[in-house]
Amino acid sequence: DAKPKDSSEQEFKLEPDTELRFEVENPDNKSEKVVLELKSGNAEIFGTELVKDKPYFFWSGAKVAVFTWHGCTLELKGKTDVAYVAKETPMVMYLNVHAALEEERKKSEAEGKRGPIAMIVGPTDVGKSTLCKILLNYAVRATRRPIFVDLDVGQGQISVPGTIGALLVERPSGVDEGFSQLAPLVYHYGNNNPGANTALYNTVVTSLGEVTMDRMRSNKKANHSGAIINTCGWVKGDGYHQILHIAQAFEADVILVLDQERLYNELVRDMPDSVRTLFLPKSGGVVERTSKSRIDSRDARVREYFYGTKTNLYPHSFDVKFSDVRIYKIGAPSLPDSCMPLGMKAEDNMTKLVQVTPGMSVLNHLLAVSFATGVEEDVIRTNVAGFVCVTEVDMDRQTMTVLSPQPRPLPQTLLLLSEIQFMDSH
Ligand code: ADP
Repeated sequence: DAKPKDSSEQEFKLEPDTELRFEVENPDNKSEKVVLELKSGNAEIFGTELVKDKPYFFWSGAKVAVFTWHGCTLELKGKTDVAYVAKETPMVMYLNVHAALEEERKKSEAEGKRGPIAMIVGPTDVGKSTLCKILLNYAVRATRRPIFVDLDVGQGQISVPGTIGALLVERPSGVDEGFSQLAPLVYHYGNNNPGANTALYNTVVTSLGEVTMDRMRSNKKANHSGAIINTCGWVKGDGYHQILHIAQAFEADVILVLDQERLYNELVRDMPDSVRTLFLPKSGGVVERTSKSRIDSRDARVREYFYGTKTNLYPHSFDVKFSDVRIYKIGAPSLPDSCMPLGMKAEDNMTKLVQVTPGMSVLNHLLAVSFATGVEEDVIRTNVAGFVCVTEVDMDRQTMTVLSPQPRPLPQTLLLLSEIQFMDSH
């Protein structure tokens, strides 16, 4: 393995079917930059093709693989933690999965049916999100318009942590950012742990599944392209039951199991024969994240929501009177079934709206701005317009200051309290 290098230039000549893996150093409070250029041949990063002689920038914490099918020369400038060429990659297997999905898409076009719904499951840090990206990028490069569903409430790619969402993918993801976001469909869950409230998690998954299926039916191109679903890395106990629930809610046709044979065997046992379950190895390049790097990346995700990937967004900050909004959280402390009113289960409590009195308890929290206009509507089954973050609370004036991607006023006044917190350092 390569040792840390100083900020010199490095050139790599890659044989066909190999990849250059590198990580950008992550020293505390310092932002390192690495510049990558393709000098000759062809190469791609997680399914997105590189343009020759174009500089691509990567920042502290980035973990990247530049893969080539036919060989290439790459140039790397800046401080990398590691940078080495790997000959063993699972890319041929991933390409075969793409080819099989393409066959299904062609069949769906010919028969006028919906395209394949594939979900990716496996423990944390096995490359689930990366495989989603690769399959989505290959699909759009093959002129498809697949739907990307992200159900990972901890490290999701669509909105802030604590949410699940779906979006139509119309072009490959940017090399140093995610998929471009036009009107993603987002549901509030409010916690980065899918196990914190399983009843709520399953309810929002069901809602997102229904709306996603509706959207597919109304868009022929998307309908034949199908969907790629990313899931959480929680695969044991209730986590496993959540996976079964997701498969059912999204009518999954294919389940791709990364890395864990036990999970694969359980799914083969429990899934109907109509669902194809496939085992895939993880890439040796996938980097295990520490709990600190998980927290950092969640924080980065929220910052990106308000400020953009390149600090190119300018969020607004304004005061909101307590009396102008209603804040709710979802889920009351659970009581045993025997203490519940007749005909209610303890589970119902977990999806109940509970009014929150505005005050210091909401400071630094994210608030989801619901599309629902009143509690009479089914609030938890309604998607959200976006998020604000409470940056100050003034008890004397009975106001709070919020950071918001949109100027005042708030589009709706029904707000849902998220457990996710964010300290705005700007
Ligand atoms: P999961 O979704 O299973 O938690 P990810 O797909 O997010 O895992 O991958 C974890 C990290 O590993 C990410 O930072 C990703 O960029 C990196 N990674 C994935 N594949 C490779 C690879 N082949 N080489 C280097 N880094 C990789």
